[in-house]
Amino acid sequence: MRHLFRPMPGFFSSRSPRGREASRCAADVQSGIFTSTLCPDPWLPVPGRHLWAVRIVPAERNEQMMPVPSHLRGLVVPLESAIDEGALSATVRCLCGETRFELLYPGQTHEHAGEKIPCTAEVEGHFFFVLKSRCPGCAREHLLFDADFHGWNGLVCHDPAKAALARPQLVAWLCQCGEARHTGVVRIQTEGREEFISEAGGRFDADRWPDAFGWFSMDLTCARCGRESRELVSYETM
Ligand SMILES: [Zn+2]
Ligand SMILES: [Zn+2]
Repeated sequence: MRHLFRPMPGFFSSRSPRGREASRCAADVQSGIFTSTLCPDPWLPVPGRHLWAVRIVPAERNEQMMPVPSHLRGLVVPLESAIDEGALSATVRCLCGETRFELLYPGQTHEHAGEKIPCTAEVEGHFFFVLKSRCPGCAREHLLFDADFHGWNGLVCHDPAKAALARPQLVAWLCQCGEARHTGVVRIQTEGREEFISEAGGRFDADRWPDAFGWFSMDLTCARCGRESRELVSYETM
């Protein structure tokens, strides 16, 4: 029988976003040991022991996704319309219909798998992670993610003093070919409605569970040379 699996929030924390990406694979799962000889996902390392806890769900459920978090409504287009608690994948699209955008980030990078990628920025002792899209068609900017407002920590563990600080200056991410315009997909993983209600119930409307997501990432494709950067951005929000 074919199964799909997802990381199990709160158990082995899925520090590796690659682990979360593994949700489309067939696999044998034995108490946290994941053997992936059949796994077609190129991001997965060799079969063996991984620090990913998994939960087996019926394969057909993977065709559904969590709802779009409220701050992204109208700014991204989900690749699937049916709703459950599966990870969201959605194309970035401006209100004017343009799908190309410049990704604005705080300008600090670190190295991951031999490549520089945007990372949390330290500004005068405070840490920020802010992403915007800027449309080359209509010049509008849209806030895609701000760790102080969005996701689990931004919502459930919101820190008003930190959130009141001026946001850092942002710069456009450039492809290795020098191009700033990209198309892109946002991927978001929820901790689930039940977890949200049990941890934050009473303080928030239960229907806000999609806003308390646990992980935010983006894949980018250069609009000029076509270079693909999978998980150029990857941020665990809790
Ligand atoms: Zn636009
Ligand atoms: Zn390029």
